[in-house]
Amino acid sequence: MRTLSLLSVVAPVYNEQELIETFIDRACAALTDYEFELVLVDDGSSDATPRLLDRAAERDKRVRVIHLSRNFGHQAALTAGLEHAVGNVVAMIDADLQDPPELIPRMIEQWAGGADVVYAVRKQRDGETAFKLATASWFYKLFDRLAQVDLEPNSGDFRLLDRRALDALLSMTERSRFLRGMTVWVGFRQTAVPYERDARTAGETKYTLRKMLRFSLDAIASFSHLPLQLATYVGLLSAGVAFVAIPIVIGLHFAGSYLPGFGTITIAILLIGGIQLIAIGVIGEYIGRIYEEVKHRPLYIVREERNRPATLDGPIALPRAGLAAHVSAAVSAGEESELPERVGS
Ligand code: UDP
Ligand code: MG
Repeated sequence: MRTLSLLSVVAPVYNEQELIETFIDRACAALTDYEFELVLVDDGSSDATPRLLDRAAERDKRVRVIHLSRNFGHQAALTAGLEHAVGNVVAMIDADLQDPPELIPRMIEQWAGGADVVYAVRKQRDGETAFKLATASWFYKLFDRLAQVDLEPNSGDFRLLDRRALDALLSMTERSRFLRGMTVWVGFRQTAVPYERDARTAGETKYTLRKMLRFSLDAIASFSHLPLQLATYVGLLSAGVAFVAIPIVIGLHFAGSYLPGFGTITIAILLIGGIQLIAIGVIGEYIGRIYEEVKHRPLYIVREERNRPATLDGPIALPRAGLAAHVSAAVSAGEESELPERVGS
């Protein structure tokens, strides 16, 4: 059996003023038996969330808050939290209470039994629109067809990782991040824990249709080259058809039944033109991502930190994977708040 020295629970938070305090209370209550830190990443919230987070950090030194300089998106915020976590076991969870924190002890049991990656699989999803359920199911089917990793269809980002698996995950420095695929990609011993997913208690989903589409494209493009190769197959197919058509047209010409095929030509031009534009579009999607990677910008920028543990300024200097940018203000803010030490003394 492995022993847990510190559990890090990482949650991205974006404009969740209605429920963030309930989340913190429930998470702390569910984890009383463990030594833990709750790493809350404020993803550039514009409502009262930052204030509420700071207040919680003030009251409870186990609550760490990382304010990002703007909204960087769910996956970037989650990565920020993972990079700053210092525990030997790390759980990632949504802050909107759709993932029950009460499940974490059961995930820890699996980890203690030898699993390195424990993902929560929802048996049912309450309170989601039929549209969200349908699009999610299409996405998982498509992803399964195209991608090289096997993703459990009903698992979100609610996972628990051993430090080894987390370090492997953080060594992946790509900018377009699909964390639930990446946690599978790293391998190790993976196990599932089933649970019932609750409806959001307050607030609304931050994933608009556009964001969902972007996210799905990111997911597929980072785990599959098949869309790129598809252009080759379609190209070969239509070139093949053309080669078959040439002798037929010549034959018809000599047979005297050759018609001036205005319609056919128009259709053919439109079809081929369309296929070519789609293929260019697909290439564009990948080139855009290559460009993003090559620019090598930080994935997120930290504005301010609360309750940063003193160990972080010691030998294990974070960020490990270099995905973060700490502007000087953030570092000085971190030094100011030597709160964990004050608590210990
Ligand atoms: N979130 C975030 N940044 C964003 C969007 C969402 O940090 O740009 C957080 C949000 O506060 C929540 C989690 O990510 O804790 C999941 O978001 P949401 O519930 O909106 O997604 P859904 O459950 O609808 O897929
Ligand atoms: Mg949600």
